[in-house]
Amino acid sequence: MLRRTFAGVLAGAALALPLVAVSATPAAAAPEILATTLTYDDSQAGEFKTQVAAGVNVWNTSVTNVRIVKATPGQRVNIRVVATDGWPQANLGPVRPTGTATVWMGREAVNQGYNVVRIAAHEIGHTLGLPDIKPGPCSSLMSGSTGGVSCQNTNPNSSEAARVQRNYAGTAAVSTNAVLTDAA
Ligand SMILES: [Zn+2]
Repeated sequence: MLRRTFAGVLAGAALALPLVAVSATPAAAAPEILATTLTYDDSQAGEFKTQVAAGVNVWNTSVTNVRIVKATPGQRVNIRVVATDGWPQANLGPVRPTGTATVWMGREAVNQGYNVVRIAAHEIGHTLGLPDIKPGPCSSLMSGSTGGVSCQNTNPNSSEAARVQRNYAGTAAVSTNAVLTDAA
């Protein structure tokens, strides 16, 4: 009787050790910040593939909390890029790795002479949760066409980049399905 009780105490002590070790680990470990990775697909982007890649690169070099990479065959696509004859459009995000948003690269704006990389970066900005900020100066990416047809700035300003950083700082935000149209 005494022996069995003693053995039980030992077993309990042995079990308690790993539990203590596990609960101590998160407090001791340095906080790890992982970027959200989103995929994009340009198979329907027609003649705009190069400018779309440049627009993706704008965001990958402007923020750290989200990274956009080209989807591999069979992989879920988060940002689908489609060339169209209308005005550029995009779903308002922030899109999550479990969701899908579409960017429509509208030739109407391209034909009017707007910078195509700026169009791509602007529309991708919508999928990352940025609304239009119109009217606005050329220094603002989200000012869109109001930045002027001669505007060659393809980069977000500091507040636009900071807003995307915040959108991907946690996991609480939810995607919306609103479509924003960028008619001049
Ligand atoms: Zn817009």
